Amino acid sequence: MVWDFETDPDFAEQLAWMRAFIDTELIPLEPVFDELPADEWRLVRRHLQDQVKAQGLWGAFLDPAVGGTGFGQLKLALMSEIIGRCMMSMGIFGVQAPDSGNMELLAHGATDAQKQRWLWPNLRGEISSAFALTEPFFAGADPTVIGTTAVRDGAEWVLNGHKWFITNASVADIVLVFAETNPEGRPHRHASVFVVTAGTPGMEIVRDIATMAHPDVEYGRTGNHAEIVFRDCRVPADHLIGRPGDGFVLAQQRLGGGRIHHAMRWLGQAQRSLDILCERAVSRTSHGKLLAQHQMMQDYVALSHMEIQAARLLTFHTAWKVDKYGAAAVRADLGMVKAHVSKVVLAVLDRTIQVCGALGYSSDLPVESWYRSTRFGPIGDGPDELHKSVLARTLLKNYTPVEGWPSEHIPTRRPAAETKWQELRAAAGLAGPAPVTP
Ligand SMILES: Cc1cc2nc3c(=O)[nH]c(=O)nc-3n(C[C@H](O)[C@H](O)[C@H](O)COP(=O)(O)OP(=O)(O)OC[C@H]3O[C@@H](n4cnc5c(N)ncnc54)[C@H](O)[C@@H]3O)c2cc1C
Repeated sequence: MVWDFETDPDFAEQLAWMRAFIDTELIPLEPVFDELPADEWRLVRRHLQDQVKAQGLWGAFLDPAVGGTGFGQLKLALMSEIIGRCMMSMGIFGVQAPDSGNMELLAHGATDAQKQRWLWPNLRGEISSAFALTEPFFAGADPTVIGTTAVRDGAEWVLNGHKWFITNASVADIVLVFAETNPEGRPHRHASVFVVTAGTPGMEIVRDIATMAHPDVEYGRTGNHAEIVFRDCRVPADHLIGRPGDGFVLAQQRLGGGRIHHAMRWLGQAQRSLDILCERAVSRTSHGKLLAQHQMMQDYVALSHMEIQAARLLTFHTAWKVDKYGAAAVRADLGMVKAHVSKVVLAVLDRTIQVCGALGYSSDLPVESWYRSTRFGPIGDGPDELHKSVLARTLLKNYTPVEGWPSEHIPTRRPAAETKWQELRAAAGLAGPAPVTP
């Protein structure tokens, strides 16, 4: 029997260190974080990252064979929940999206020489990366159809196309670009991934797009989402990752564990939000009693806790399955986690805003900003509808059609039930058949 809900004592200590580190070093900075001078923050960030590295917790998402700690998805899930309590933790622990996913892609597809140039510097935090798949004029939900092309010309590839919503592209040192190379190939073999380094002629970063999270976007900040145009952008042949047509398979590498980490970070945020809700509920009085004494408020508290706990268990179970069977074998489960948890976190954030009233709606609490940035959850990384559709199709494969009545049709089942009853009577030593009368 291997079901076990306990954490190894050694790893529990690591988690306790993480929580204390985030609570004492990072969360207190939040109210001024956006105003910190960039050059000073770079130095302070390095100082904080060094402590994480000394603890053996830096960049923990990669397999040992490709330079990581080999913690496995279950341990990463536990870590991600703590990291999710504070948005800036991701960069401090070396698990910042999109870099983490890009590193997984490079770890699986890059040659040794390419790893030396891009993977290890990215893992050490010396360079940053972006991943460009989504396009304004093609549905991002269906990456088998894209407009960006890459054509081989001698020792170079020539890229043309239009991308948008490319996180960190305006500050990244390299952009991993998804482009069509094999238009005649099968839908999942038609595209490839190229590394385009910042400043390459022909790659124009048009703008950083204003979003719900950053309506007053300031160009060139980490966390922005860029629009990019490629016009005859030439990259050397050795900037192709893998073989022509490998793009889709490589892009999948970035997503497997990433969905678990995203989900657990959302749950870390949901729990912190619920803490805010509960503190308010026990602190404020309305109509002669504490908010916490109003039954509808209690419903919010109980429902939020139940949803978070159920989502945690679903995510831990899926992480355990990834460790046991591999991400490819549990693709539908990973999509289920993403689609479910993205809704849970938004529901909890929304209740917190409601319980805190005007204060919740204001920027005096962090919840409204979390809500705005987390609203991308059901859209990004494949919209939830798509994941639910994959899940439903996977489940439906286990069923075969029946002619006529459904298998559970009670009148049809009755004769077999009567026969079974006679068999059981006889087996129990009861004498003679006894008809069952309705
Ligand atoms: C904050 C943020 C950061 C992002 N970062 C990146 C990045 O770094 N790199 C990158 O390449 N992309 C990035 N994206 C883009 C993201 O991956 C896409 O937005 C996402 O894949 C959906 O694509 P789309 O926006 O083109 O929507 P569409 O594909 O046009 O879909 C729109 C809606 O249609 C519905 N829909 C679509 N397909 C189906 C279907 N099969 N069944 C049912 N309903 C469907 C869904 O409701 C969906 O939300 C980011 C997006 C956001 C919001």
